[in-house]
Amino acid sequence: MAGPYKRPVFDREDPFVVLSFENSLIFKTGNQRTEKPLFVNKVAPCRQACPIGVDISAALHAVSNGDIDEGLRIYLQENPLPGVCGRVCYHPCEAECNRKTHDEPINIRSLERFLSDHGKADLAADVPIRSKKKKVAVVGSGPAGLSAAYHLARQGYPVTLFEAGSELGGMLRQGIPSYRLPTKVLDRDIRRILSLGIEVRLGVQIGKDLSWGGLDSFDAVFFSPGLQSGRSLPFRSNSENRVSTGLDFLKKPQEWGRGKKTESVLIIGGGNVAVDVARTLVRIRQGRADKITLVCPEARDQMPALREEIEEALEEGITIVNGWAPHSIDRKGKRLSVGLFKARVTKDEISGVLTIVRAGKETQTLHADKVIVAIGQAWEPVPLPPGVEIREGRVIADRFGRTALPGLFAGGDAVGGRAFVADAIASGKMGALAIACALDGKDVDVEFSSHQIGKSTAFSFHNVLEPPGKDMTDLKKVVSFEEVNTLFFPRSPRKQSAKVTPATRKKTFAEVTRGLTPAMGQIESSRCFNCGTCIDCEFCMDFCPDLSVLRNETSGTYEFNPDYCKGCGVCGVACPRRVVEMVGEGIEAPSEETR
Ligand SMILES: Cc1cc2nc3c(=O)[nH]c(=O)nc-3n(C[C@H](O)[C@H](O)[C@H](O)COP(=O)(O)OP(=O)(O)OC[C@H]3O[C@@H](n4cnc5c(N)ncnc54)[C@H](O)[C@@H]3O)c2cc1C
Ligand code: SF4
Ligand code: SF4
Ligand code: SF4
Repeated sequence: MAGPYKRPVFDREDPFVVLSFENSLIFKTGNQRTEKPLFVNKVAPCRQACPIGVDISAALHAVSNGDIDEGLRIYLQENPLPGVCGRVCYHPCEAECNRKTHDEPINIRSLERFLSDHGKADLAADVPIRSKKKKVAVVGSGPAGLSAAYHLARQGYPVTLFEAGSELGGMLRQGIPSYRLPTKVLDRDIRRILSLGIEVRLGVQIGKDLSWGGLDSFDAVFFSPGLQSGRSLPFRSNSENRVSTGLDFLKKPQEWGRGKKTESVLIIGGGNVAVDVARTLVRIRQGRADKITLVCPEARDQMPALREEIEEALEEGITIVNGWAPHSIDRKGKRLSVGLFKARVTKDEISGVLTIVRAGKETQTLHADKVIVAIGQAWEPVPLPPGVEIREGRVIADRFGRTALPGLFAGGDAVGGRAFVADAIASGKMGALAIACALDGKDVDVEFSSHQIGKSTAFSFHNVLEPPGKDMTDLKKVVSFEEVNTLFFPRSPRKQSAKVTPATRKKTFAEVTRGLTPAMGQIESSRCFNCGTCIDCEFCMDFCPDLSVLRNETSGTYEFNPDYCKGCGVCGVACPRRVVEMVGEGIEAPSEETR
């Protein structure tokens, strides 16, 4: 027992005045409350924007803590090709990063490469052993097929992967040059996928080397043949033998040989393929770019190629002529004359379809020894099983990849949509979910919406596979910039990867971009706000004036003490990443079914 009560002397210099030497726990301030705090992890906007739905926020938290292996493990829950995406993804995640409003977006793609290059993952140990009897065939081993095979194998299905070519990877191997995506990086990602026990059949083109009937022993098929032909120009020319497609060139670039370095080459197109053709030619010619010109109808900032690809091409000396489209190619003696009209590209607001239109009456003619056309890819006709429909060069399938033929699912470039690696991976992931639902008698619509990330087309396979635990997240709530408490985040510049100088790189096929160093990786991952992810900073506990935030040591989560929390909302404001929010009395955390 304390001695007789002594009234404290009020000291104006000391704001901390002790009002009671005994215990104030008798004042149950909780009964004043009209609102209460709710502690729930949410979705970061970067995750909503990533077509594959990677939990970037959690992965970068692990990396900032020095646990690169855990960062990689989190990536692999959704994306089987982090080494590839960490180099060539168009990174829509960065465009939506909350940090862009504060200073500069997080360099997410470089961090993905960083954790893929430095992290280790044992998939066999990570995936709970399941074993299902029904067998699935995957046709085509580009990113869509690899992703479908990976996610099906992770669900326990025996998978056989058929590939027409002699190696796995599709356009990742045959198209994207090694100065952007080194073969050993692709091989490493593929080895990890195959470690799940996927059977591979190379050199088997389904519909030719093996009939569709040869797949009858499988319970479902995922078809992802890509688009294997280069699209041709919409007019005829008398010089077909001097006009190649970008895809044909990239499959065998060495055939052009260094001896032909005096030939001038005109490349038509403004996408990645066109720029890759130009930069590959420069490398074959040991750095000579003076006779290589790229012409496209788009303005410079409208070109579909990745921004950095365009910048690097210009640094390497390639000439890019924007705002011109070809209307004719004529052979004049030994040279080709390419007739061009002044053009611009318009986009239909509703359908998103791009159209090339004339921009005035101006025309010009460019002369070249060779022309390479790289204006997109086209469907290469192959025998299909009866009932499967092709329209405008694309296999008809719904948003889950279901075709008109039960048991046949399709994805990747062959079904249309955005022709990028991340989108192909996403469609393989979706196909794997749809196949699993069909084989297990579940409704894919319900399954998808239960695990859908925000309003995006992506969903979380981690949530499909793993039993709910501490890291359970309300996948429908996306944290906006206004909800982040930026007081806790001093401004700091984004860390950029170094590049090999243009003079050196244009003579070699070695990788142009160097990865982040371990120190840079640590600093850059620490810049992340971790929007919506509790990282145990415990600011909610520190700032609560009523000591009413409690840590539940069993679950590792935070709760409030209903007896003393008066609902002031300080914890919600103090939480830097919007894990804590104030809700009306009576509202509970979302149940496992609704998360
Ligand atoms: C030069 C180039 C550069 C690119 N750069 C980028 C980039 O920087 N960033 C980006 O995001 N995207 C890029 N892309 C686009 C990206 O590569 C494609 O969108 C992606 O590879 C499509 O994947 P997919 O699995 O649908 O098909 P593909 O990658 O084309 O793979 C299809 C596979 O199926 C096989 N196949 C076809 N028919 C059959 C059959 N009947 N039986 C068995 N096997 C079959 C093919 O041999 C092939 O291996 C680039 C593409 C090219 C060509
Ligand atoms: S796959 Fe692309 S969009 Fe997704 S996190 Fe990686 S870089 Fe971002
Ligand atoms: S700050 Fe981090 S978690 Fe938030 S949007 Fe950017 S990368 Fe994602
Ligand atoms: S800061 Fe404390 S008292 Fe205020 S709402 Fe949060 S838990 Fe309740």
